[in-house]
Amino acid sequence: MPMRGALGGPRLLLRRLREVMAEPVGAQVRLDKIVVIIAANMVAEVCSFYVMRADGTLELFATEGLKREAVHVTTMRQGEGLVGMIAAEAEPLNLSDAQNHPAYSYKPETGEEIYQSFLGVPVLRAGNLLGVLVVQNRASRTYSEEEVEALQTTAMVLAEMLASGELQALARPGQDIALRKSLHLGGQSLADGVGLGHVVLHEPRVVIGNIIADDPGSELKRLEESLADLRASLDQLLDRGDLAHGGEHREVLETFRMFAHDPGWMRRLREAVTSGLTAEAAVERVQSDNRARMLRQTDPYLRERLHDLDELANRLLHRLMGQELVAKQSALPDNAIVIARSMGPAALLDYDRAKLRGLVLEEGGPTSHIAIVARALGIPAVGNVDNVTSLVETGDAIIIDGGTADVHIRPQPDVESAFAEKARLRAKRQEQYRRLRDVPAVTQDGVTVDLHLNAGLIVDLAHIDETGAAGVGLFRTELQFMVAEKLPRTNEQIELYRKVLDAAGSRPVTFRTLDIGGDKVLPYLLTGEEENPALGWRAIRIGLDRPGLLRAQLRALLKAASGRHVKIMFPMISTVDEFHRARDIFEREMAYLTRHGYEHPAQTQLGVMVEVPSLLFEIEEMARCADFLSVGSNDLMQFLFAADRENPAMAHRFDPLAPAPLRVLKHIADAGRKAGIPVTLCGELGGKPLEALVLVALGYRALSMSPASIGPVKAAILSAQIAPLRMMIEAALADGRRVTTLRPDIAAFAAAHDLPL
Ligand code: PEP
Ligand code: MG
Repeated sequence: MPMRGALGGPRLLLRRLREVMAEPVGAQVRLDKIVVIIAANMVAEVCSFYVMRADGTLELFATEGLKREAVHVTTMRQGEGLVGMIAAEAEPLNLSDAQNHPAYSYKPETGEEIYQSFLGVPVLRAGNLLGVLVVQNRASRTYSEEEVEALQTTAMVLAEMLASGELQALARPGQDIALRKSLHLGGQSLADGVGLGHVVLHEPRVVIGNIIADDPGSELKRLEESLADLRASLDQLLDRGDLAHGGEHREVLETFRMFAHDPGWMRRLREAVTSGLTAEAAVERVQSDNRARMLRQTDPYLRERLHDLDELANRLLHRLMGQELVAKQSALPDNAIVIARSMGPAALLDYDRAKLRGLVLEEGGPTSHIAIVARALGIPAVGNVDNVTSLVETGDAIIIDGGTADVHIRPQPDVESAFAEKARLRAKRQEQYRRLRDVPAVTQDGVTVDLHLNAGLIVDLAHIDETGAAGVGLFRTELQFMVAEKLPRTNEQIELYRKVLDAAGSRPVTFRTLDIGGDKVLPYLLTGEEENPALGWRAIRIGLDRPGLLRAQLRALLKAASGRHVKIMFPMISTVDEFHRARDIFEREMAYLTRHGYEHPAQTQLGVMVEVPSLLFEIEEMARCADFLSVGSNDLMQFLFAADRENPAMAHRFDPLAPAPLRVLKHIADAGRKAGIPVTLCGELGGKPLEALVLVALGYRALSMSPASIGPVKAAILSAQIAPLRMMIEAALADGRRVTTLRPDIAAFAAAHDLPL
């Protein structure tokens, strides 16, 4: 049976629904009225609304046409029957002969066997399935495209009603609706710690107050204007080449631009508006369908493109609503757990540290810079949590465990109390670590290990005293540059370096010269596009090619260190010759000090980061001319295994405790010992207790790590016997047995020796 004319059809339906939504009646009465209106408008004998419960079952919440006794009685599992199939696939189902469909499942209490035609659509919000809306007719008929569209639009109104929490009142005790269900998600550990708090979406979801349009003509105009505006802003961003701003890459913006001109997307938006929705409700509806597809998409490429489309729709939505894209700091709750798809270190630093209890990201691996900053701030953080931004609502209760990479959304009371207990135990353990503060890290068999701190921001400096670190083993100077709006002036650099030296007092500080390029992008410094930035123009390569920047930095470091001891190291040195050239620049700056009558530092030492495999084959020569070596295990492992440190799919593929990296690490330590210079390690590897013990066994006597690692690593060192561990590792490396990694042997050794790991 055909639809009535445009005005009599979907728009009239939406107008009637709006009236019902405004009536001061109870939730069940409202739902009952809604199904009657839909059935009448669609000339269907039946309209039923099934709600997804937290236990994954669909429950009949209202019906016109089926037996009333079935309401809140009839249930279906996801995948069971036609309704369950719609829920599983999140796609409409339009059948003229429903009873002969293989998925048809008969529920006697509903009396539905007399209905032949069936149209069902998913009720979606942010891509999540909340329910299923169905109309049925006795006669065999095929519902038109317009009718499918109209029912989907209606489903959106129901989704909003569900989201408002109104229908929760109809759920029976213990059978919450899915929207409020507890979720347990896993990810990847970025920064240790337990955080209990409430969700703050870094890019808050727009709350749409008005779903149903008063005047579709003007809504269409608003939509077209916002689309044009969005396209113009993308063109501008791409033309200006101001790409690094906001951390976007050209490729992503190009994809956005392509989607912004996509006729299919625009048609769907226009159709949704024509069916009677406001422009923003139309964007949300199309976005929700898209997300539902994205969640069911397994091809990583397509999924990524759907993600891009989702982000583009989000921008359009913010444009329509005139809202900021990023969460307002003023509205931050006292225990904020920030959720984002991805985020740069500067954005994280913008949040009030006193209120920040945790960070959850859809992207971002453990050696990404946001992770490094989270660790510096001491904020528990979990990365690679699939789709988390769609699964939470602002203000939801949430618990994260950064150590085990667990995220509990809307936790049940038992989970909550278990974590409160865990947080208490942690605090107790932290107290024990604090008591170790002034205890030197010496193994049971008398090997002393200096534990230094990795730092890079003012916020880190308090940790030097708190942890009792032996010094700052790696000061990442680029962080000051990364969080700044524009290139920090020499005076600002001098000021920071002085503060660091002051905070360290008599303890040594190793400053690393700018390590930019690769994934560390400076918005104000255009380095050009690269196919392969990790292997590109970065770190000391920029320093040598454009010595102005390096010279200015060295000058700032030397001035800040006048009369004091300073250690400086160069990142990404690939050949001994590069070190000589960097040292020449340094010597020129020393001469500059003399020429201009500045006081020299009392002592300077120049070191090299060992993080490019080519240097391994010149390591003995290198050790003879540098004052010290420092292994950057994050990059060294990335380049050794040719496995991107930021790519989650690579995160567990290769183990640093496998024979090859262990031999490499030993080779570097041996070269240092032979040349009589100190060798330290400052990558994330040294901050893990088991790995730290292995490094000590391989000959490392100094490790540098994030502040939270010092306590646990020290506790492990204090209880370990290193000689037997060294013999075990050496024997395992020598015996030629087939092993993927020595980790199980080393872990078994640690367990047998009762090491607190
Ligand atoms: C490393 O590569 O291990 C390192 C310490 O440097 P970054 O993580 O800053 O690249
Ligand atoms: Mg590095």
